[in-house]
Amino acid sequence: FDERDGVLWMDGAMVPWRDAKIHVLTHGLHYAGAVFEGERVYGGNIFESEAHTRRLRRSAEILGYEIPYSVAEIEDAKRAVVAALGIADGYVRPVAWRGSEMMGVGAPDARIHLAIAAWDWPSYFSPEARARGIKLTISPWRRPAPNMAPVESKASGLYMICTMSRHAAEKQGFHDALMLDYRGFLAEGTGANLFLAIDGRLHTPTADCFLDGITRRTVMRLARERQIEVVERHVLPDELACASEVFLTGSAAEVTPVGQIDDLTFTPGAMCQALYDDYMALVRGTPRPALS
Ligand code: PMP
Repeated sequence: FDERDGVLWMDGAMVPWRDAKIHVLTHGLHYAGAVFEGERVYGGNIFESEAHTRRLRRSAEILGYEIPYSVAEIEDAKRAVVAALGIADGYVRPVAWRGSEMMGVGAPDARIHLAIAAWDWPSYFSPEARARGIKLTISPWRRPAPNMAPVESKASGLYMICTMSRHAAEKQGFHDALMLDYRGFLAEGTGANLFLAIDGRLHTPTADCFLDGITRRTVMRLARERQIEVVERHVLPDELACASEVFLTGSAAEVTPVGQIDDLTFTPGAMCQALYDDYMALVRGTPRPALS
């Protein structure tokens, strides 16, 4: 990924993609204090750009540091990167971290860095997987409790269990993993939130120990606009057997139907399709399909 033409934004300036390097003694690499965002570009515009920027700054504050750029400055930088690369449909990845000026767990004077990269990226899961619904397996790793990790921060350290879960799932032939929370309730995917259709209602786990996704909130609003009742609650894994549809939401995953979770199978259905259509219309700024 580092061998590409083009530019990215780093600490206030555009730099050639290949030259965007950091020292091996970077604090963020050793102690996992980086925070990042994942955002999508549709027709040259970043969807919910400011909400992502605010979350990025908040993620850093939760970890005890301030990103030295304002929301407006970060917004300008993101727009500049997307424009410089001429990206119409793609992805934006801001990342902030403590630098290499100090080594050790405590590094209060390490410089805070920010980089913003963007690239063309049509689909998180392959179109075939999307059409049939992706296959998930429940991970042995659980989302930690709010007093065991900074669960509201999109902090890189929290992603080690996501990567381990996803790699283990892929080795077994699944597309991705689904994680339970520390209590054993359904939580989320490794990069997306979870929804279940049960008896015509939309159920989604309460986001009290994992990321309350921007897509999650958008899809809940779109569902309510369709007069679909949305229920946020703690959901047990056994309840998956009662679900007529299951899907994931995320900036990268958008609205992706789930076709299998371990031994249970699901058919991508009308509710997921309607919310996918509504979501795509919203992000592309095209007219919403007629409500049915
Ligand atoms: N959970 C995790 C672990 C994620 O990485 C993401 C993607 N950022 C989400 C949920 C969904 O968040 P959003 O809709 O804001 O992209």
